[in-house]
Amino acid sequence: MTIAPIFDPQAWQLNDKQSALATKARNLAAGKFAERAAKFDREAAFPTENYKDMANAGLLGICIPESEGGLGADLKTYMIAAAEMGRFCGATALTFNMHVSSCLWTGFLIDELDMSAEQREQHNQMRKVHYQRILNEGKIYSQPFSEGGAAAAGFKAFGTTALKVDGGWRVSGKKIFASLSGHANYYGALCTALMQPDDKHSRRNTLYLAVPADSEGVSIEGEWDPLGMRGTVSRTLLFNDVFVPDKEQLMPLGIYPSAATRWPHMFMTLTPTYMGIAQACYDFTVAYLRGEVPGTPPVKRRMFPTKQLAVAQMNVMLQQTKAIWFQAISEARPDPSQESVQRAWAAQYTVMENANELAQLAIRTCGGQSMLRSLPLERLYRDSRCGSLMLPWTAELCLDKLGKASLYNPGETDDS
Ligand SMILES: Cc1cc2nc3c(=O)[nH]c(=O)nc-3n(C[C@H](O)[C@H](O)[C@H](O)COP(=O)(O)OP(=O)(O)OC[C@H]3O[C@@H](n4cnc5c(N)ncnc54)[C@H](O)[C@@H]3O)c2cc1C
Repeated sequence: MTIAPIFDPQAWQLNDKQSALATKARNLAAGKFAERAAKFDREAAFPTENYKDMANAGLLGICIPESEGGLGADLKTYMIAAAEMGRFCGATALTFNMHVSSCLWTGFLIDELDMSAEQREQHNQMRKVHYQRILNEGKIYSQPFSEGGAAAAGFKAFGTTALKVDGGWRVSGKKIFASLSGHANYYGALCTALMQPDDKHSRRNTLYLAVPADSEGVSIEGEWDPLGMRGTVSRTLLFNDVFVPDKEQLMPLGIYPSAATRWPHMFMTLTPTYMGIAQACYDFTVAYLRGEVPGTPPVKRRMFPTKQLAVAQMNVMLQQTKAIWFQAISEARPDPSQESVQRAWAAQYTVMENANELAQLAIRTCGGQSMLRSLPLERLYRDSRCGSLMLPWTAELCLDKLGKASLYNPGETDDS
């Protein structure tokens, strides 16, 4: 059966690459990931088989520049393709985002930022190492960023430190919710660089390093038995005086803060998973009411006006979600206008909250038999709740930023 794309190429004016990569992701996820998703969820197990399939399909290199042998997707192209994956296995799409970010940040995003010629040359040489590992050896990168404090929200320097030593860095610290823990080959950790042990911690000195997972001093702790997104295996990662060679630097020192400030849309990369979940909740509801969900009796429920109204309400919400999301990702560029950034916060909030709202409407509309464990809807419901919690743009923080930015001009205060 052909599955319609979330974003019809003609209606949404996708270019050939956007359309081709979205099709590739959808075919793989619908054909392989959908049937495995329940098992990974039940066992809270990492989707290793899916990663093998993604490596074979070249998707691990989706955001590696074409000049380096990758598929060369920019941010918007990646987002459209990843949303297709999110429809069929949320945990795979979310962990895929962590892996892809290591290529997006070191590739497409940084290519549009200012660097000296020497920094650019050095960076281009260094990133080749990472890209070749991914493309030739199927290596997976993760993105441990959160520490359980204000750093991941963007308000403080990271508590994880990297002390400069001969030939590399000594990394110490703790990262919470490190998706892919125990399964990534490299942990793309954000740390605060220190030239001397007693240097003051500064966000300006943020360093992005690929910590090899098998390094001495790397360990994983804690249980992993969460409500949703169980296949992400987001346990706690500890770095205890881990030596990381200079060649593992993913960005020149000091570039990350400028990327985070000048490229705010980079924080939207957590949304495609939930855009896909929103679509999946709607698709399930339509199929269920038409009596077409595999594994359920072919009982039609679509003739009741209450069901028709509920689906109409879901359709409106899905259309609104798609529209603002597509517009926001289409505006992704360095130094966007303040209005564009506000739209990005509004889009992030909308996708994360509406995915969960659509999931709950789907269960209410389809009814009791639809939320049995044998069907995907209850997993979509649990997974959808996690989107609003992702720092730095949690639903709460998006509202906080939007409210302030709407009422105050930059730099304006109530003093005086
Ligand atoms: C399934 C899943 C996978 C994840 N994977 C990763 C991953 O791979 N890498 C990674 O780095 N992180 C990951 N995270 C972590 C995520 O991004 C958040 O960092 C984490 O959920 C924050 O935990 P908390 O809500 O307990 O944080 P808290 O710091 O307790 O924050 C609670 C809430 O308070 C608000 N808040 C926090 N700080 C401020 C502030 N300064 N001002 C105002 N409000 C504030 C926010 O809205 C936040 O949601 C994952 C989380 C989940 C649920």
